[in-house]
Amino acid sequence: MAQLVLMPGKERSAMKRHPWLFAGSVGRLEGRARPGDTVEVLADDGRPLGRAAYSPRSQIRARFWTFDVDESVDDAFFKRRIAASVARRQALPELRGQSGLRRIHAESDGLPGVIADQYGDTVVVQLTSAGADKWRNAIVAGLVKATGCARVYERSDSEVRGLEGLEPATGWLHGTAPATTPTIVENGVTMAVDVAGGHKTGFYLDQRDNRQLLGRLSAGKSVLNCFCYTGGFSLQALAGGAASVLSIDSSGPALAQAAANLALNPQLPAAYAEWLEADVFAALREFRKAGRLFDLIVLDPPKFAPSAAHAERAAKAYKDINLLGFRLLNPGGLLMTYSCSGGVGLELFQKIVAGAARDAGRDARIVRRLAGAADHPVALGFPEGEYLKGLLVQVD
Ligand code: SAH
Repeated sequence: MAQLVLMPGKERSAMKRHPWLFAGSVGRLEGRARPGDTVEVLADDGRPLGRAAYSPRSQIRARFWTFDVDESVDDAFFKRRIAASVARRQALPELRGQSGLRRIHAESDGLPGVIADQYGDTVVVQLTSAGADKWRNAIVAGLVKATGCARVYERSDSEVRGLEGLEPATGWLHGTAPATTPTIVENGVTMAVDVAGGHKTGFYLDQRDNRQLLGRLSAGKSVLNCFCYTGGFSLQALAGGAASVLSIDSSGPALAQAAANLALNPQLPAAYAEWLEADVFAALREFRKAGRLFDLIVLDPPKFAPSAAHAERAAKAYKDINLLGFRLLNPGGLLMTYSCSGGVGLELFQKIVAGAARDAGRDARIVRRLAGAADHPVALGFPEGEYLKGLLVQVD
């Protein structure tokens, strides 16, 4: 095994069990390693620190598989890690019996670059690092064993693969394509999941609890769901007894899937739902001009800032959208607002939302802080694992 020797003093983050080694902390490679190969990581003084996947093209030059200097990284390693990841979720009562569930949340489950979401009997896997890509077969075998699922589909078409020098890869890795689109039941609502064509692995499982909360808040309310995608929040609002639900997205296919999802739920009052294909920023300005108001508004935009470098431009977009949201609320109304940008932390997000409320001339308070569901854990000491942050804000 080749050895990756760190610069003097650069072993600190590894000592704290941070899973990434940036290019700037790496001194030299002793021996030969290709992208994705496992290397032994050593401090400058020769002390072994663990084993990592080498990624020469990436600024994240290596990702630790293990901090146990004696642990082998082989098929059995992936079997163990995946079984543990599945078992952890089984142990949490709130996740038991979910038919749509994240099984592996990358670094936070000790498997850098590996995402796995299960929808019914189908698992969708996304491999985003050179190391994860290399161990594809072991990962698929581990998932089949631990979940008992019938099929595995690969959705490794995330842009971040480019940073690792990897091409996109998609297709069935185990089993065959199902005759019909997989469906899940989330808090009583049936949702079809387009694993091949949907966003990410097909569905935003991390918002499960927040969609349920929206349902609980919706009785008798006029609801505006911005960036609705396939209607997850919209359908929970209808299930919760909303008086009306207007949902906006700029994607025609997402809206078509949303309407199809509504049709899968004959128990919901379809007549209360309205779908609008539009740019949210433009639509909200139109509503403002028309003097249209809502009791409950959801803002769940796409990632405006993939990294800290984009934070400033993202901050402006969050400010705009939240300002518009605050202006469209009835007295006593609620704004449920999110950021899934890695580059915008909770503190900054809260500042932006506070500024938006102030500029909209609304007195407001945070009723609740919101985060991702329990199948999207964040490893202690790995703040990069925290993507989704949200605020439930009530205006006077
Ligand atoms: N809330 C959804 C997930 C939202 S994903 C859920 O719970 O499933 C973000 C969505 O925003 C995507 O569907 C994308 O098509 C849409 N989108 C991105 N930019 C937009 C814009 N400017 N106007 C309207 N929709 C937009």
